[in-house]
Amino acid sequence: MTAGSAARRQDASSTAEVVAELRRRPAFVMVSHVKPDGDTLGAGLALGLALKKLGKRVYYFQQDPVPRNLRFLPDSDCVSRALPADLPPDTLYVFCDMSDFRRAGEFLPPIDRENMLDVDHHLGNSHFGKFNYVIETECSTGTVVMHLLRELGVPVDAQIATCILTTVMTDTGGFMHSNTSPEALELSAELMRAGADKEEITEEIFLRKRVAATRLLGRIVGAMQFEEGGRYCYSHVDDAMLRETGADGEDTEDTVNVLRGQDGVEVAALFKAIDGEIRVSLRSAGRVNVQEAAARFGGGGHFRASGLTYPGKLEDAFRDVHAALLAVGL
Ligand code: 5GP
Ligand code: MN
Repeated sequence: MTAGSAARRQDASSTAEVVAELRRRPAFVMVSHVKPDGDTLGAGLALGLALKKLGKRVYYFQQDPVPRNLRFLPDSDCVSRALPADLPPDTLYVFCDMSDFRRAGEFLPPIDRENMLDVDHHLGNSHFGKFNYVIETECSTGTVVMHLLRELGVPVDAQIATCILTTVMTDTGGFMHSNTSPEALELSAELMRAGADKEEITEEIFLRKRVAATRLLGRIVGAMQFEEGGRYCYSHVDDAMLRETGADGEDTEDTVNVLRGQDGVEVAALFKAIDGEIRVSLRSAGRVNVQEAAARFGGGGHFRASGLTYPGKLEDAFRDVHAALLAVGL
């Protein structure tokens, strides 16, 4: 059986087809999404490192800088929003961990669909590439990439293993979320045997916090509100709160999970009104599909973890997101 075939759409590319394309092309740009996390970046770095071993030219495009807690990743110092001028016309752009290529931001040059490979695990991926390698049942995009690495026959060294284990630990919340399958745990053991630095991943991504981030968490927790008899918890962060605590947008990353973890909460939302934009992070305990709610605003993600950008004022965002959550069964 091919990788995850039960969960794949008819128009999806096969593993063999994608690997033939990887072998054929001379140059690659690994593309990660805006507000990058350990999955989008780790998946791209892992595949990039493997392609370099095959003698390919590899670049990493990311609109935003590498977040502080991901700078330990091998090759992350090669990530840039600038691309060389002399890329061959058949360069393959590999979009990692995004259901729509617009999540890559506004700084990519126009790219022919022929030159797009979409590697992902999100629900409702738009199959925007010529090649679409999307496996919704995989816990991370990195584990989707693993299927390609196996077929490519590139040995997984310690660097690649660290990148892939980072994707698994990021998207399973350190092996806590419901996508922590036996397969994810077996693969993680294999990656540790290959030299993946689990201690460093744990320390960098999960344990060490900036003091400013913890002060900001205090403010966000202080502003928590509960609705629907305590089943819905939301809070917000704005520019003033960042200024007053010395934190920045990166420091808000995991906070929504704290809201979701409160006793009785089924859905949590964190509204981030930062730099003139309102981003909303949604988390579900498992009964309500927050991807459906996010999609109503053009956002997306997973059943239990989704995000969206709200075009308007914070007060209106509170009201409209609440209404969207009720409409999908909160
Ligand atoms: P977060 O709340 O951590 O920003 O995002 C949670 C999940 O939703 C991630 O899987 C992320 O990729 C996805 N997501 C967040 N924002 C958007 C968005 O604007 N559009 C789409 N399609 N997915 C999003
Ligand atoms: Mn992911």
